[in-house]
Amino acid sequence: MRKIKEREPSKELKILRLLNPRMQLSDPQYYANLEKGYAGELQMDAWLESGLSNDCLVVNDLLLEHKRKVFQIDSLLIFQEKIHVFDSKNFEGDFYVDANTWSSLAGGEINNPLYQMERAKSLLRQLLQRRLGINLPIESFLIFINPEFTLYNAQLKLPAVFHSQLNPFMNKLNNIDSKLNRGDEKLAEQLVALHSDEPPNIERPAYNYEQLKKGVVCPECGSFMVEKGRIWLCSECGCGENAQAAIIRSVEEFKRLFPDRKITSNIILEWCAVEGDHKKVIRALANRFKRVGHGVSSYYVE
Ligand SMILES: [Zn+2]
Repeated sequence: MRKIKEREPSKELKILRLLNPRMQLSDPQYYANLEKGYAGELQMDAWLESGLSNDCLVVNDLLLEHKRKVFQIDSLLIFQEKIHVFDSKNFEGDFYVDANTWSSLAGGEINNPLYQMERAKSLLRQLLQRRLGINLPIESFLIFINPEFTLYNAQLKLPAVFHSQLNPFMNKLNNIDSKLNRGDEKLAEQLVALHSDEPPNIERPAYNYEQLKKGVVCPECGSFMVEKGRIWLCSECGCGENAQAAIIRSVEEFKRLFPDRKITSNIILEWCAVEGDHKKVIRALANRFKRVGHGVSSYYVE
């Protein structure tokens, strides 16, 4: 297998990760679900990378649009004359399916994951036919990656792979007759070109500079670090980071959260809650960025 497109956290998840240590999120459960879903996708990637030896292309994490409808594909596998679409589900605990209603025994009804997957499959088929002129059969599967997931009353024909079936399913994938050609690569490239980075209509979490807790956040555990001379230290996990690297990393976080604000030495001193030597911060900024202007009105750009 060859990977054509890597996976990365969504912009929304990246922002929430930066906000979480610095404020009380309005919906912590939503954030936790995003993290859990992403962790499941990474586990699916690891499963594919370690087991898939067949001649195929893997395109991860596609956000596509057809007829003004946006749909997402966790992993798309291109075999010779065949496409597989995988939707990773990191559900945990006991679930029950009755007709088309899915419920968690602990938490009540959930959105039927089949609907979402079938919708994506149908839109993908139309996009391939109408925009790329490609008629390939598509098979889609829910990949239940979590070993502690049980689905009661599941139908035999459910297009799902449960944790206990991952190995035999991988053997099936490896036994598909597949010898790729240039056309298959072109298809993968075309799909990547159609991918959009930003889902429309995503409600951005509301936050402002003043409300966020200031300081340098530990890259390992999300606690706040303390300046100790040339390094910043995390008392929670023991992680240490060179002062310059910690400042620049915090500036990058600031830029992601506030792309429209100017980076001045004063704002970064405040953002990092620097109590010691201010010169170090200014030196770190000057080493990494270009200074525009002089004196109090100066600021830094890439
Ligand atoms: Zn830490």
